Amino acid sequence: MSDCIFCRIARGEIPTTVVYEDDDVIAFEDVNPQMPVHTLIIPKQHYAHIGDDVPSEVLGKVFSAVKTVAALKGVEQTGYRIIANTGKDACQTVHHLHVHLLGGARLPLGMGPAD
Ligand code: 5GP
Ligand code: ZN
Repeated sequence: MSDCIFCRIARGEIPTTVVYEDDDVIAFEDVNPQMPVHTLIIPKQHYAHIGDDVPSEVLGKVFSAVKTVAALKGVEQTGYRIIANTGKDACQTVHHLHVHLLGGARLPLGMGPAD
């Protein structure tokens, strides 16, 4: 997926503030943060979303990175929310699997439908 924006970030082709990186996963600051802490965690390999036949080892690596990033961002004690928008109803805009890690302030309680 040479033209995928997150693949390009994973290859280091686009300037990004990297929070964490290993052989399989990279975490970087969202360009349009919605919270004081808003970091994206992605597998370096391209999968469109969590339903895209993602091997369990890859999912494990992404979710293991969540707690590492939470610690690096200083929210492991205060709490945080992770979101993986998947498909149209979830308003997924970048079609490379990613987990949003949000925190640094109180998040809204609700998770119901939009108006
Ligand atoms: P989605 O709506 O697909 O779950 O979220 C995609 C996220 O990627 C958005 O929060 C958006 O701000 C972020 N994003 C889109 N393009 C870029 C980019 O080029 N760099 C970074 N760092 N974040 C991006
Ligand atoms: Zn990609």
